[in-house]
Amino acid sequence: MTPSNNSLAFDAIIIGGGPAGASTAAILGEQGHRVLLIEREKFPRYHIGESLIPFTFGPLERLGLIPKMRASCFTKKYSVSFVQPDGKRSQPFYFFNRYDRETVAQTWQVSRAEFDHMMLDHARERGVDVREESSVHKLLMDGDKVIGVEVTEKSGRVYQAFAPITVDATGKEAFASKQKGWRMNDPYLNKIAIWTYYKGSKRGEGIDEGATTIAFVPEKGWFWHIPLHNDTVSVGIVAEGKYLTRGGVKEPRAMFEREVEQNLWIKEHLATGECTQEFWVTSEYSRHSKYCAGPGLLLTGDAFAFLDPVFSSGVMLALKSGVLAGETIHEGLLAGDLSPARFTAYGATMREGVENMRKLVYAFYDVNFSFKDVVMRHPEAGDLITDCLSGDLNRDYSQLWEWIREIAPLPETLPYGSPLQAAV
Ligand SMILES: Cc1cc2nc3c(=O)[nH]c(=O)nc-3n(C[C@H](O)[C@H](O)[C@H](O)COP(=O)(O)OP(=O)(O)OC[C@H]3O[C@@H](n4cnc5c(N)ncnc54)[C@H](O)[C@@H]3O)c2cc1C
Repeated sequence: MTPSNNSLAFDAIIIGGGPAGASTAAILGEQGHRVLLIEREKFPRYHIGESLIPFTFGPLERLGLIPKMRASCFTKKYSVSFVQPDGKRSQPFYFFNRYDRETVAQTWQVSRAEFDHMMLDHARERGVDVREESSVHKLLMDGDKVIGVEVTEKSGRVYQAFAPITVDATGKEAFASKQKGWRMNDPYLNKIAIWTYYKGSKRGEGIDEGATTIAFVPEKGWFWHIPLHNDTVSVGIVAEGKYLTRGGVKEPRAMFEREVEQNLWIKEHLATGECTQEFWVTSEYSRHSKYCAGPGLLLTGDAFAFLDPVFSSGVMLALKSGVLAGETIHEGLLAGDLSPARFTAYGATMREGVENMRKLVYAFYDVNFSFKDVVMRHPEAGDLITDCLSGDLNRDYSQLWEWIREIAPLPETLPYGSPLQAAV
């Protein structure tokens, strides 16, 4: 199949305008490439995933977005703390006790509708042809090579677009990776999340106003409590389905409200507020793509790997993969070589990051594990845990894994993430 007169030719096509797609597009647009970004929704659109982590700073800085973030209304986040079911709260961990106050140590709690809109506009400002309310429903192939996409507009008009590389940034839906049969389940990370929003509920003051709180309920379930701007709090419960539905309870609000009773801190903080939105539910199955790329195709963000959200790593990984994908494609376009092998380093870097975070997630859900125990046994583990949780993921953490394995088993590294051709 080759481009016809009715079709469009680009240097790169991006499917999906979330953080991964918008950042890939912005980097390529900045370099003067002809980029088409296809997004199904009209932005601003709702999305979950509101808490950023310190090392999101690097990709945001590379994208030139720090001034916009500093000028934004997003709540400043300086710390994280953990709360036991009896309401006992750990000392907040302030990021400035370890990182530079002017950069990494302050991050944000964002309304994703506004944050993603800002990102997509940023890509537009970099010259990207952004088309909203348009869906990719088909990959165009020449043999086993992706050569473009077929797009359906809201009006029903269908057209084709061609490029030497197509990027799947469709989030958890993982459009291309699912079609290729590359999507693999992470067998033990299989939770359910139920969440909503409160207004007027209790929150901290001063630098604690924007703190993330992780509040535990029995059986390794946990609440997130994320203070956003406009006096709104995002609050959700994550646990195994069989725990949340015990006794035959099936209705999301009933499941949520029963768990509120299981943590005194959450109960007390929500008591003065009013629930202002519906209850959202999603399964939290972590999933990974076997390959990061194939001929004419590259995966970014959740479409490459989606991890349980307990440590809020999703947006950081999406932005990091977007920036790295954009830079790698740019080099490929200059060299006239976008063969899958060019994405070997990209895949290895992103998988290393996902694997490091994944090991901490596994440890977190083990009944015998607590961060406190590891640090009591090995005080040097404290800084390593902090760095990994803050998103400094491309490091050698093998010493930390050895210490954690004294308390809890950790999973083997999954053999995924290289490009299709290099993997055989
Ligand atoms: C319950 C829950 C809580 C979370 N909490 C956090 C958190 O606190 N912090 C954090 O960092 N992360 C969190 N995450 C993860 C975070 O939401 C994701 O990691 C992040 O949104 C990934 O960005 P992305 O760009 O890869 O995908 P997305 O943000 O999902 O963007 C994908 C885009 O692709 C579009 N699209 C899909 N299919 C098509 C198609 N066929 N054609 C055109 N467009 C298409 C969609 O409309 C969407 O806009 C959470 C996730 C869940 C489920």
